[in-house]
Amino acid sequence: MLQTKRVVIVGGGMMGVGLLYHLAEMGWTDTVLIEKGELTSGSTWHAAGQCASFLGSFSAAQLHHEAVKLYPQLEKMTGQYTGWHATGGIRLAITPEEVDWFRYVEGFSRDIGFRMQVIGPDEIRRLNPFITLDGVLAGAWTLDDGHIDPTGCCNAMAIAARNRGAEIVRRNRVTAIRQRSGGEWLVESEKESYIAEYVVNAAGCYAREVGEMVGLHLPIINMEHQYVVTETIKEFQERRDELPVMRDPYVRGYYRQEQKGGLIGIYETHGAREAWSGRGGTAQWISDNELFGGDLERIENWLTRAMERMPIFATVGIKRIIDGAIAHTPDGNPLLGPAPGPRNFWMCCGSSVGIAQGAGSGKYVAQWMIDGAAEINMRDFDSRRFGPYAGLAYTRAKGYDDYQHMFVTHLPGEERPAGRPVRHSSLYLKLARKGCVHTEGGGFERPKWFSPNGRSEQPGFRRSNAFNAVRDECRAVAERVAVCDLSSFAKYEVTGRAAARYLDRILANRLPRRDGGIVLAHLLTLHGRIETEFTVTRFSNEHFYLLSSIAAEQRDLDFLAHLREPGEDVHIENVTEQLGVLVVAGPRSRDLLATVTAADLSNAAFPWLTVRKIEVAGIGLRALRVNYVGELGWELHAPAKSLEPLYDRIWGAGQGMGIADFGLYAINSLRMEKAYRSWGHELTNEISLIESDMERFFAPDKGDFRGRAGTLDCRRRPQARQLAYLEVAVADADPRGGEAVLAGGQVVGLTTSGAFGHRTGRAFAFAYIERHALESRVLLTVSMLGRDESATILNQAAYDPANVRLRG
Ligand SMILES: Cc1cc2nc3c(=O)[nH]c(=O)nc-3n(C[C@H](O)[C@H](O)[C@H](O)COP(=O)(O)OP(=O)(O)OC[C@H]3O[C@@H](n4cnc5c(N)ncnc54)[C@H](O)[C@@H]3O)c2cc1C
Repeated sequence: MLQTKRVVIVGGGMMGVGLLYHLAEMGWTDTVLIEKGELTSGSTWHAAGQCASFLGSFSAAQLHHEAVKLYPQLEKMTGQYTGWHATGGIRLAITPEEVDWFRYVEGFSRDIGFRMQVIGPDEIRRLNPFITLDGVLAGAWTLDDGHIDPTGCCNAMAIAARNRGAEIVRRNRVTAIRQRSGGEWLVESEKESYIAEYVVNAAGCYAREVGEMVGLHLPIINMEHQYVVTETIKEFQERRDELPVMRDPYVRGYYRQEQKGGLIGIYETHGAREAWSGRGGTAQWISDNELFGGDLERIENWLTRAMERMPIFATVGIKRIIDGAIAHTPDGNPLLGPAPGPRNFWMCCGSSVGIAQGAGSGKYVAQWMIDGAAEINMRDFDSRRFGPYAGLAYTRAKGYDDYQHMFVTHLPGEERPAGRPVRHSSLYLKLARKGCVHTEGGGFERPKWFSPNGRSEQPGFRRSNAFNAVRDECRAVAERVAVCDLSSFAKYEVTGRAAARYLDRILANRLPRRDGGIVLAHLLTLHGRIETEFTVTRFSNEHFYLLSSIAAEQRDLDFLAHLREPGEDVHIENVTEQLGVLVVAGPRSRDLLATVTAADLSNAAFPWLTVRKIEVAGIGLRALRVNYVGELGWELHAPAKSLEPLYDRIWGAGQGMGIADFGLYAINSLRMEKAYRSWGHELTNEISLIESDMERFFAPDKGDFRGRAGTLDCRRRPQARQLAYLEVAVADADPRGGEAVLAGGQVVGLTTSGAFGHRTGRAFAFAYIERHALESRVLLTVSMLGRDESATILNQAAYDPANVRLRG
């Protein structure tokens, strides 16, 4: 029989049920969740059930915060036992860098609203009297954390969803999924078939196989993970209060009380194993509630460490070993939202901590599906952040690495080599030999900074050994001329008779009026929030060249393709790999280029914000007179294979002018001095052009376009927060984004990015700040690693606000 449903969710674990529940909460009840076994019979049932608030990234912490808000309510809401234990959690720091990290997270915890304190060894011992604290410097105590019975919790959300009208079908495997010519999906299962507007892949460790049903190759591998449960510990029996969940980098894992015994979970470094490795990493469809045999040898070194920390664990035996499978993605974040490629195939999978993430993923994916965008920044979770480069070998290398680093602190500046390089320009090796430290974005290796002595960066929250080298790169850009390989732009050709009309319909700014013009234009959500930012170059009415962030490559490609109307004469081509880009910037850039091109580079012939097709060093290329650093300069977009000879000629020609290389650290510093916003930081799906003070890129008079009405609506309503450009008085650490902004001790905002500006000798940050704090002009401070540093609002760019140098 064929049934019709608005949404079919494949998979009844924490992620699928979390979504079903939130869709129902938001009024979408024409839904069915199909589970091949029983609910939770994948990875969910055997999880240790911990829900941590303490996360390194602001968005991940927002996602996790939903669990500790929702789960404690579920039992009362549904009558289903959930076993929520409000124990709190303590993460231990054993290095000064980890203490800095705690202070950093403590800053943004106040903006999200979870309770966290950085505590010393005495306080840790008070909360856990059984612990030895050799080498421990501090603890991050998150007071709202806890652990839950995952089966009870998942069933409670299922009951709540059913009570609101959602349907759940168990013991029914989805066997095939096909998109019909009208765009709707046909979902075939063992029991019946469904026609659906949306299909959601929430198949946990089977998500790769379910993705393959629609031709997707998802970057997920499944890893084995073990925890052990000890016999009863008499001292625990005698206590009234339960111990907090402990997270410990020395142990590479977690330990806590489980009823009256202990529970120790380890993310081993050596010997980590892919689940079902004998079957190429795939489970059998018939397997439900599967556990592996358990292998204590793989984790015994770390168990010994856990017993050093908690000698009381050594007084009892191990009662049970749980060895199960968890999905891991290359960057450790789940895959949420629309899948790359087909319309209305969605993802809610790839979560390695799906108990903690089930509530938040469900809530924000439901918002995204119903409203067109979530209320938090989903960039880090968007399943379209990976592209075809993330094949199985890459995913495996990164997935192992992610598993092995679950309890290793990730510090700013750190570069992890696993799986790299997978994508780079033809200059990669040449620049690496010159000391270039690359960083990966959308799989692409991008120059970050040039290490003069070949030493890598000392990662951390404070200024690193890269600081002086970046200062020198910035000086070269400001005083002489410098070159940067920015081939990693995502690049698209938009052609066809309807190209101009189509772009006008989807972008908020006016297109360039003349051939050869360049503008910045934003694609908005229907509610007027920012989806993406394009640099739009017009070659003709039927040929446009668009640039955007490499991190959004697949996503932007999908937007461009999906927003075409049927039969519209518009062709979209992704030319990211075909073209390389060299930025040549600095006051001597014109002099330098004049030695390698016959083209007229004068202001009259080649003004700012225009493009010309010219020859440089005998290579035909597109020269765009734009840059992100605020100096005279050009971007040279050349055939990828010509990049190396082009670079060599430019480098040679610049010898008498003091030419230097520069990278992304320098670009970040230079753009902060120019108050240039950055997509993904200041410009996100949470923000409109109004709040981000980008109204000059909003052209409501040009006629209707996507997001116009939403933006006008934003303009009419007073916004709660507004973007501010701040100068921050700093000591040895510069703002980087994610720092709380305070007024009179109260959190009134959060920074989105920042840097030290070497041209001005001052540090800057962007921050979204509550309107009342901006209007009342109270004294602001920024919480920098536990110190409150004073901040001043600037009304214009700190460097060359009149753009004299750019137009030079
Ligand atoms: C030992 C261990 C301890 C853990 N501890 C924690 C912890 O403390 N905290 C935490 O947050 N996370 C923990 N995890 C991770 C957590 O278990 C997973 O991240 C989470 O359960 C994933 O949920 P899910 O819904 O994505 O997948 P699953 O729970 O696996 O659900 C997916 C479901 O999809 C079904 N399915 C697949 N294919 C089909 C199909 N074709 N048709 C119909 N149904 C299908 C499966 O049967 C399965 O039930 C732990 C994991 C392990 C192994």
